[in-house]
Amino acid sequence: MTFVIASFLPSENLIYWGLPLFSTALIAVAGFRGWRKHLHRRFFFRFNILWDKKSQPFCPGCLSPLTDWQKLSSWKFANLGSRTVRNRITYQAFLCRKCRKILRLTDEDGFELTFAQARERLRSPADES
Ligand SMILES: [Zn+2]
Repeated sequence: MTFVIASFLPSENLIYWGLPLFSTALIAVAGFRGWRKHLHRRFFFRFNILWDKKSQPFCPGCLSPLTDWQKLSSWKFANLGSRTVRNRITYQAFLCRKCRKILRLTDEDGFELTFAQARERLRSPADES
């Protein structure tokens, strides 16, 4: 009886297959990380998104080029005394079609930037203070 149970235990399989599989997985993970790092080295992160050396914008999530600069609108709630009022606000942002994400450009202080302003500041890092 004990012999039957022992033959079903995966102890031998673990040594013969587990170790190579484990090391293969490790190599795959390391390779993937290196690849991501390599991709990120081509870009730099600024104003909430990634840029390449030619000041082209890229999505930080999927690294696809951002081409959709859109004017969007949403509601902003504000407290006026005792009641809450709803104000319509418009803002501009990139829309990544791949991850369906809205990417707003913000500077180091959290202020919103337009695409033109962001590009302007990328080209002249000297006036940043
Ligand atoms: Zn994306």
